[in-house]
Amino acid sequence: MAWVLIVASLVVLWVASLCKIFYTSSSPSRNSFLTTGGAFQKRNVLLVVAHPDDESMFFSPTISYITSRGHNLHILCLSIGDADGKGNIRKEELYQACAILKVPLQQVKTLDHPELQDGFGRVWNHTLLAKIIEGEINSHGIDLIITFDRYGVSGHCNHRDVHYGVRKLLRDTPQGNIEAWELVSTNILRKYIGPVDIWFSILDAMQHSGEVMHCLLNEHPQKSFLAMAQHSSQWVWFRKLFVAFSSYTYANMLRRIECI
Ligand SMILES: [Zn+2]
Repeated sequence: MAWVLIVASLVVLWVASLCKIFYTSSSPSRNSFLTTGGAFQKRNVLLVVAHPDDESMFFSPTISYITSRGHNLHILCLSIGDADGKGNIRKEELYQACAILKVPLQQVKTLDHPELQDGFGRVWNHTLLAKIIEGEINSHGIDLIITFDRYGVSGHCNHRDVHYGVRKLLRDTPQGNIEAWELVSTNILRKYIGPVDIWFSILDAMQHSGEVMHCLLNEHPQKSFLAMAQHSSQWVWFRKLFVAFSSYTYANMLRRIECI
């Protein structure tokens, strides 16, 4: 009977976590991310990802937080995800997902650079990445960047290279007014416990100052499903399961990137 109790406890915990998420979305936010001294100041944010679907699969809590608070969000997708020859389809799917996520389509850019092609074993040059990202910053007056951390959630080399490209930009360019945040990769257990992970993320964030860490709960997790469903070429059964059980559907832990 022990397993029945375990399963029942997990179900209760899952439901309680979802209640916490929905309660948070219906009450005034106390999160100070992107506020200056508690006051609203419109920010120009650039989300840098590697492939179409990264935004919906991993960053949707962050996107929802930014757009619902009236900040300007730009998305730079550094490849069309052509590893399986579906790049042109995937590019269009990204725009459809961004329409669901309420990101203006003119603020979404996808690159198809010969040196930045999707795939394991494809090494992306960090200097090239830094130069491209710098161009976007200058074009749109970006003052804050969000991207993967050095593990890149799934360990995909393209995700990791994007992180190092941003880091190179911060290190090499005199962009003193740019701040950058990374999506914290969690361990495999936390990664697949769905909304239950919010308690670990909230505790993690409480142990750090708002200057270095924030936990953003997804106020509309159902929107993440809908956005990911726009990526029809990728919307196979195991990705549906991933989106349901992935903690990144329900919360994002963001940590400030410090370059020293
Ligand atoms: Zn990816």
